[in-house]
Amino acid sequence: MQRHGNMDVSVVIPLYNEEESLRELHKQLRETLGRLGVRYELLFVDDGSTDKSFQVLRDLKRFDHNHVKIVRFRRNFGKSAALAVGFEKAMGTYVVTMDADLQDDPAEIPSLIRKLEEGYDLVSGWKRVRKDPITKTLPSKFFNFVTVLMTGIKIHDFNCGLKIYRNDVVKAVNVYGELHRYVPVLASNAGFKVGEMVVQHRARRFGKTKFGIGRFWKGFLDLVTVMFTTQYFRRPLHLFGFWGMTFALVGVGIDGWLAYEWAMERTALSNRPLFLGGVLLIIVGIQFVSIGLLGEMISKAKRTTEEYTIRDYIK
Ligand code: UDP
Ligand code: MG
Repeated sequence: MQRHGNMDVSVVIPLYNEEESLRELHKQLRETLGRLGVRYELLFVDDGSTDKSFQVLRDLKRFDHNHVKIVRFRRNFGKSAALAVGFEKAMGTYVVTMDADLQDDPAEIPSLIRKLEEGYDLVSGWKRVRKDPITKTLPSKFFNFVTVLMTGIKIHDFNCGLKIYRNDVVKAVNVYGELHRYVPVLASNAGFKVGEMVVQHRARRFGKTKFGIGRFWKGFLDLVTVMFTTQYFRRPLHLFGFWGMTFALVGVGIDGWLAYEWAMERTALSNRPLFLGGVLLIIVGIQFVSIGLLGEMISKAKRTTEEYTIRDYIK
């Protein structure tokens, strides 16, 4: 691997109440990364655990002072928040993210690195054979299908916790809310090359999943956010203006026609409920255009060059 800076690989591990898994995870990571002979850091982000996770991490730190780093939240802020902080702190040339529950296998890291070095900026794991209950795998299939359809990014498993990034990717994407499922979309939108690799998946050995059924609703609302902020962030009027104008024109057309019929004394407007439909379309249309204009004003006021990712700057 190419070496620049003084850290090769950062492993970012968001965790919430995973006390039973951490020692084993740390052991496996040490084995794999030690064998690779790279300089690495293990960035554990404790997302407000209420079990003994933090004590376990402190023990690990005492035992493996040079590699283990711990960030501890004051309360549970969610996986996206934990990843965002990990991304901010990560110093490695390559940044790996993985779940703490031993469902992701640290032994995949070397092949992820190789795949990344084939010329990608982000390689996402694909749990082709999933060791999860059907209540999770089925909705997840649907979720991935819709996401591919909406975003045009052809990967199979957006929600896979195991991914590898070049450092500039993690510094460029802004993960908040529950957007961790959409990091590939955000990265691809910023101009990074996104790839995919099949990874092994293991059943959860300890504890239980931290996401309930609510994950799917939130996931879809987040998809709307991602679509909107990536495609229309800089030009809200293009979306709202288009639909607003279309609605208003259709409304004017309908009402104009009805007014003409009325003027010709062919029919009374009180007999034409469609007239109200026309009025509704005109009002909604004007509101859409106004929202678009407001959006333009906000986006103009906040515009900075931070939204663009620059590959090279040659002076
Ligand atoms: N996690 C977290 N904060 C949360 C929920 C989950 O840091 O609020 C961590 C969790 O400890 C695990 C990873 O995110 O390391 C994935 O969570 P989980 O295994 O529950 O998700 P699933 O495998 O069911 O998709
Ligand atoms: Mg899991």
